[in-house]
Parts: sequence; C-alpha cells; structure tokens
Amino acid sequence: MIGRVKGLWLTLMSVPRDNPRLLRAQYVALSRQLPMMYFILLVNTWALAVTHLDTAPGWLTLAMPALLTIISFWRAQIWWRNRNDPVSEADILATLTRTNQLAPFIAAGFTAWSLALYPYGDAYAQAHVAFFMGITVIVCIFCLMHLRSAALITTLVVDVAFVVFFASTHNPTFIATSINILLVSSAMLIVLQNNYRDFTSLVNAQAKTEQLSNENLRLANLDSLTGLPNRRQFFTTLDNATSEALKSRKRLAVGILDLDGFKPVNDLYGHSVGDKVLTLVAERLLELSSPTVHVARLGGDEFALVMKDDLSDESLQALGRKACGLLRTEFMLADVPIHIGATLGIATFPGSASDTTQLYEYADYALYQGKRSNPGTVCLFSASHHEQLHRDAMTEQALRRADMEDEFYVLFQPILNSHSHETVAFEALARWNSPELGQVAPGVFIPVAEHTGLISRLTPPLLGKALREAHAWPEGIRLSFNLSAIDCGSHESVQQIIALIRDSGFDPARLDLEITETAIVQDMAQMQRAIIQFRQLGCGISLDDFGTGYSSLSQLHALSLTKLKIDRSFVAGIQHNPATFKIVKSLVGLTHDMDMECVIEGVETREELAALTSLGCTQVQGYLFSRPIPAAETLAWLGQARVERLSS
Ligand code: C2E
Ligand code: CA
Ligand code: CA
Repeated sequence: MIGRVKGLWLTLMSVPRDNPRLLRAQYVALSRQLPMMYFILLVNTWALAVTHLDTAPGWLTLAMPALLTIISFWRAQIWWRNRNDPVSEADILATLTRTNQLAPFIAAGFTAWSLALYPYGDAYAQAHVAFFMGITVIVCIFCLMHLRSAALITTLVVDVAFVVFFASTHNPTFIATSINILLVSSAMLIVLQNNYRDFTSLVNAQAKTEQLSNENLRLANLDSLTGLPNRRQFFTTLDNATSEALKSRKRLAVGILDLDGFKPVNDLYGHSVGDKVLTLVAERLLELSSPTVHVARLGGDEFALVMKDDLSDESLQALGRKACGLLRTEFMLADVPIHIGATLGIATFPGSASDTTQLYEYADYALYQGKRSNPGTVCLFSASHHEQLHRDAMTEQALRRADMEDEFYVLFQPILNSHSHETVAFEALARWNSPELGQVAPGVFIPVAEHTGLISRLTPPLLGKALREAHAWPEGIRLSFNLSAIDCGSHESVQQIIALIRDSGFDPARLDLEITETAIVQDMAQMQRAIIQFRQLGCGISLDDFGTGYSSLSQLHALSLTKLKIDRSFVAGIQHNPATFKIVKSLVGLTHDMDMECVIEGVETREELAALTSLGCTQVQGYLFSRPIPAAETLAWLGQARVERLSS
C-alpha cells in the first residue's frame, strides 16, 4: 500500500523522461506560458510591496522583492530565449527537471515573503496579501498546466501555507477565504489532471500518426519483393543526384540492368522460383551498393544503379562488368542450377544527357542496344548511339508517314540443300524504299517498327507480297517468312495472318514462319498458342537466330517447332574454331533427334560450307550462294545449273 502510494506520488511528481515527444511538447507550451507567468507574478509582487512601503521594513518592501525579481528574471529569460530554437532532448529534460526541482522553493519564497508582510498592514492590506496569494496561485496552476508536477507542488506549498496561516488568525473572513481558495484550487487541480491526460494522449496520438505515415512513406518507396528502393525512390534519388552533380560539377551515371533469360525461368519453374531468383539478384547487386552507388528495382526483371562518384568510362565499365559478372554465376534453387545473365546500359550526366529524363532514356537506349548486339555485357551510351537514336527517331517519323503497300517490297534469299546444292526454299526479306530517307536497311527499320508497334501494319502487306510472288515457283519450293513477336502477340493478329495466308491461295504446307528465339521467350505461353494455330493451318515454324538468346533447346521442346536456324555468328570461321564446331555439331545432332530440320545461316565461304556439311547439317543459306534477290530473278535462279550457282 505504502509502496503503491509512493509509486503514484513519484509518477505525479516526475518528468516523463521516457517520452521525448511529450517532453518537447511540454517544453514548447511552457516556453510560451512561463515568461507570462513571471511577468504577472512580478507586477503583483511589486504592487503588494508598494502598498506596504510606508508600513513594512525596507528588507521586506525592497530587498526581498528585488531578490525575487532577479530569480524570476533568470528563469523567465531561460524560457523566453529558447522559445523558437530547436533545443536538444537532453537540454529539454534538464530544463524541465530543474523547473520541477525549483518549483517548491520559488513558491515557498513568494509565499513566505507575502505572509511576512501580513503583520504590518491594516485590514485592507491584509486582505490584499490573501488576495495576492489566492489569485496568483491560480495563474501559476494555469501557466504550469503542461508540467503537472510543478503545478501540483506549487499549489500544495501555497495552499498549505495559506490555510495553516489564515486559519491560525481565527478571523472568520480569512477562514472562509481559506475554504474558498482550497475548493477553487482543488477544482483547478482536477481540471488540470484531466487536461494533462488529454494533452499527453494527444501528443502520443500525434506521434503514432507520424510514425505510421513515416512507415507508409518508407513502404511506398520500397520494393516489397526484394526490399530494394523501388522505381519511385529511384527517380527521387536520381533527381537529387542530378542537382548535386550540377552543383559539385561531378559526373553522374545511371545504369539500367535487365536480366537475360529470366522469363524462361519463370515459365519453366513457376513464379515462386522466379521471385526467389529476383530476391537473390537483389542481394548480389547490393554488394555493389555504397554511399555513392545506389541500387534499385524498377520492376519486373529490371534493376537500376545510380553512380555518383565522378567515375571515368573505364571505372563505369569495370563496375558494370562486375554487376553482370555477379549475376552470371549460377543460382542454386529448388535443387536445379539456374543460369541467367544481365545486360547493363549506362549513360552519364552531364556528359551525354542534359537532364534527368534524358539520362534515363539514354541509359535505357544503351541497354536496348546492348541487348540487341551484345547481351550479357555492359553498354555505355556513346556518340554513335546518339546518332543512332537520332536516326531511329527519323526512321520512326518516316515509318509513321509511310505508305506500307507502296514503299515496301520483299527480296528472296535462296535456302539450299547442303549436299545437293538444290534450292529448297526462299526466305522473304523486307526492303524499304522511302521517299524521304531513300533505301533503308531492315536492320534499321525492323527494330524501330517492332519497338513502336508499327510492325503490325507492316507484316500483312509484306506477307501478301511474298505469298503472291511465291505462287510462281515450282511445287517443291517453300517460302520462309519472318514474323515478329507482336505478330504472334495476340489472338487477333494471329487470326489476321492466318486469314491472309488462307486467302492467298498459297499452300500453307509450303510456308515456314520464322520466329526468333528472343521473341519466343518474351511470352512463351502466348507464343505456344500462336504456334499451335499456325501448325494447325499446316505451316512450318522455324526458330530463327538460334543461339543468340539464353534459352536451351530443352526449354523450347514443348513448342512444336519444325526447323531450327542456327545464327550466323556460329558460322564465321567455324573450321578454325573447335568450340563453335562442337556446339553446332551437338545442335545439329539434337535437331535430328527431335525430328527437326536444321538451317545454317550466313555461310560465306567454301571452307565453312565444307565444315558444316561434314557435321551433317541439311540446309544452308548465305552469300556464298546468293544475296537476297528480287522476285523477278527467282525463277531464273531456279533454272540455273548448280555448279554455276556456287561459282557466281
Ligand atoms: P534474319 O531473319 O536473320 O535474316 C537473315 C539476314 O542475314 C538477312 O539480312 C540476310 O540478308 C542476311 N544474310 C544472309 N546470308 C548472309 C551471309 O552470308 N552473310 C551475312 N553477313 N549476312 C547474310 P537482312 O535482309 O538485312 O535482314 C535483317 C533482319 O531483318 C532479318 O534477319 C530479320 O530479322 C529482319 N527482317 C527482314 N525482313 C523481315 C520481315 O519481313 N519481317 C520481320 N519481322 N523481320 C524481317
Ligand atoms: Ca529469318
Ligand atoms: Ca536469322
């Protein structure tokens, strides 16, 4: 019982040191109220002193009030001085604790002084003393309201002294006044207690709200899967970094990193494995993070780096190679080793780009170029990229204005049997004669058309023309036609192509549709649906540019492919390169096992042809035989003798 009372007493009388927010709120309130309290206290004090000047001794009417004034000034100026300045938590605690400790002494000082004046005055003056004490204590309770302990102790000191002193005068008026003061003070203390409780809970609620909104803000800036900063945080960091770079005249670089071969992992092993891979990727990338290198996830399998340390091209390349290298190491998940890679595009500011948006766009373009020409490596945005970007923009404009029927046509490149050198098919290859830009290479306009989606307007006229020309060929000659990812990307566009083939009157069984490996892995499920529909129509499906992407044949096994076209990068100098020789050999073997035909592209020399034929591959295509030729020349080509062809 005694322990509990003691505990309650201590709680009432102490400063809440474990709640720094409450302390600060108390401090702010008191720094506004206490100077006012001292001002009123001193004016009343001097008024009381002056009314006793003629009757009381000097030490009571001058010396004591002067001492009390000095003490009050000292305290008031401490509060006044710091009312607007942010003060440290330790200072706040110290000031509040001191106020608490001084309260009984200051209260006792004023009380003792005013009671000491009592014997010298007449009845009016004595009433003034009682009035001074009673009213001033109310001001003190009000002004000290936010520091409950100090208010409580001041009231106790003043009221106890008041009641004891005036009750001992046996004067009924003063006894009544004592009771009055006692009641008013008690009511005030009850109100104070309620207010203090409300004040505390308000401050705590505010703290909680602020904490919640901070947490929300933190979550809104984090990627929930990997815990890395998200796209939004990335752009904030980038914005700040560009302004910093402008001020400090230091070079800033942005890297955008895209995983190679991640989609097949998702398709093959499911999303939970995909998610784990992304988490591990984030962990590995964090190894690069430092105060000057920020890592973020932009979404999907795209990550970003902001590199602030004025890095040279060489250092950026080295850092980029490290990032790509980190992700090339296999990931062991679900007991299967998973191999992916990463391509990184980097742009610099203010070097190449002139603002944040451009910096991001250029890095993205460098990534796009890297993906196309050198996946798995770092690609730094260069002057030639700048030109290319400009050229792509011009191409896009011209392409948007182009008459797809009139300006485009197809050339045909023969595909031959590697043993007999008989032509077995022609591959249709698009050409553009633009009235604005002149002859534009497909390597330029096809990527732009794919990127902008304009390819969906281009494919039908090109396919229509190829099918019309192919009508003239003898029965045994097939037609190969290239399709883009977008052509197979929706049910509608697949149906449109199927209708076009049907209406052309060309036997679909003589048509091979070529789809690149990169297009297939973009969306395996939709590709599979498209392939099934084309196969039902009777068309063959060739996997184009095989070997440039990250898929393995086993991953593509589920798709009913009929032909594999091994990319020309494997062919150049194959007779001198045992490693590529072995790869092509095993690929050719695999196609035989899987009952697929195999075409090798880009054969340019007799030596390459000899090496490839020895491997057992069935069909070849390349400049050694013929460049793509106009439709009008295809029949003449078919009529030529085989020996002539090779030597031409
Ligand atoms: P692709 O489908 O891989 O076509 C083969 C490309 O290799 C053609 O380039 C062809 O001229 C070239 N080539 C053939 N033999 C050799 C050789 O021995 N050595 C070298 N160095 N190159 C050889 P082209 O005509 O410039 O076409 C480039 C790419 O544009 C094509 O690559 C294809 O991806 C795309 N493309 C062309 N026409 C169309 C089309 O109608 N639709 C779509 N979607 N893409 C097309
Ligand atoms: Ca092709
Ligand atoms: Ca190809």
